Amino acid sequence: MKIFETHAHLDFPQFDKDREQLIKKCFNKDIEYILNIGVDKKTCNASIKLAEKYDRIYAAVGFHPHDATDFNAEFIRRKAQHPKVIAIGEIGLDYYRNLSPKDIQKKVFEQQIKIALELNMPIIVHDRDAHEDCYDILSRNNAINVVFHCFSGDEVFAQKVIEKGWFISFTGTVTYKNSNMENIIRLVPEDKFFIETDSPYLSPHPQRGKRNSPLNLQYVIEKISEIRGTTPKNIAELSYINACNFFTLSK
Ligand SMILES: [Zn+2]
Repeated sequence: MKIFETHAHLDFPQFDKDREQLIKKCFNKDIEYILNIGVDKKTCNASIKLAEKYDRIYAAVGFHPHDATDFNAEFIRRKAQHPKVIAIGEIGLDYYRNLSPKDIQKKVFEQQIKIALELNMPIIVHDRDAHEDCYDILSRNNAINVVFHCFSGDEVFAQKVIEKGWFISFTGTVTYKNSNMENIIRLVPEDKFFIETDSPYLSPHPQRGKRNSPLNLQYVIEKISEIRGTTPKNIAELSYINACNFFTLSK
């Protein structure tokens, strides 16, 4: 069984004490690839550093909506061309916390979409309470290779995303009691989803509240397989193949 962790922040200080041991453990436990995600200048650089150190770690670079006011287009364009950088992200809109003004979030999101299209790279979207605006900005720029990381929309929005040919990515939130993801997990075509942890955040049940790590992907896999009425092995494989296709990594 091969597992692709498509969204982690292993450069964050929560991993300072045991980063190396944890990464080794992951690679000994079926995890084939880890995509480490940047959210600002510092974490983009740190993600690239991790990717340079480990063969099977790759990096994504982008300015998170929280950090939109610090956006630097030249920085992203330059870093995106590093051989281990395989996506632009996480980028998007966050109207839940609104840590940057909305108009700046939108402008910076759009500029980064344009860079991704110019460089022909997939886009990892952070969308919190901003479904329609994310959809509109991506659509009007004709973005094709798009994943909604930690999908949080309803079924109608999921259908719209799927009709565009975009992907849906599931985190540990699918294991929560108040999760409303069941129908979305059922309706998503088998070639349009993959999985992630968003470590160190969003630990799945029964690890909720603790630091998350890629090792907890098993809970996400189990929950999805239970809902779709298939085996965990099948879900791990589908997610792996879909993510390899999406990020153009060899299987
Ligand atoms: Zn993230």
